Amino acid sequence: MTAALPRKTALALHGGAGARAGRDYAEAEAHLKALVEKYGAALEGGQAAIDVVEAAVAELEASGLYIAGRGAPPNKAGYAELDASIMAGETADAPREAGSVAAVAHLVSPIAAARAVMDETPHLMLVGRGAEAFCRSKGMAFVEDPASYYRVPIGVMPDEMTRAELGHGTVGAAALDASGRLAAATSTGGVFGKLEGRVGDTPLIGSGTWADGAVAASCTGLGEYFILAGGAQDLASRVRYKGETLQQAADGLIADVARLGGDGGVIAVSASGDIAFAWNKHGMKRAGVGANREAFAATF
Ligand code: ASP
Repeated sequence: MTAALPRKTALALHGGAGARAGRDYAEAEAHLKALVEKYGAALEGGQAAIDVVEAAVAELEASGLYIAGRGAPPNKAGYAELDASIMAGETADAPREAGSVAAVAHLVSPIAAARAVMDETPHLMLVGRGAEAFCRSKGMAFVEDPASYYRVPIGVMPDEMTRAELGHGTVGAAALDASGRLAAATSTGGVFGKLEGRVGDTPLIGSGTWADGAVAASCTGLGEYFILAGGAQDLASRVRYKGETLQQAADGLIADVARLGGDGGVIAVSASGDIAFAWNKHGMKRAGVGANREAFAATF
């Protein structure tokens, strides 16, 4: 059932901005709509935004419907390397916190690993071999049989592509909880045809994911350009320093990504419960519910 307005909490989800015109995304849209209803109700029921964004992204990873987790493509060396980050904004009662992992092979839930880095280490980011050892020490699940687990067959190597041609997709969530705390999370298998060891915007706090006292945002698109444009923190800075509305700030970031030659999208939630979405090509699988919008899911 659609939540009645006004509500105290807000949630925005994305399943990647790489959607192509003419394809049918009904399954992903139905999945996103179900998640927004489930986790939108959880937020209204008092669940913390940081727990909601982690749980929603974990379900998106596990579904195999997006280019993250089970849907991750192999790198040019023939195996999946995964990136994820999570961040909680500050309130009067809670500090700003974040965690991320990058270039971890065959981890079942990169977002759970990012959360563990946030909660259980003094660091914000772990990469590669050390990240893998940390995850194993925490008993996290790794994919036992990559050939049967991943939706994109391991060993399928895309042709050479220029930076602007790289195919991509990612999953993310941004939320405001009833206590007024914002959080965001993002997880990806990266871009198709990426070099082994390539890391994009997704695990970089400030690029792929950002949450402060005013805004939470998660990006999707050609990560190289989101890093060059400043990414999710640029959106928050537009609100904080320029006084832009959430939608103006989202549009401004994506216009800058496009100006630099990239493509992609962003989702954002504000401390007043508004949600905003922007993307510059074809479609972005997305869903949300907030003070300014009833529950919906769409791609184009
Ligand atoms: N931003 C991701 C990356 O560059 C890909 C995506 O969002 O589609 O790894």
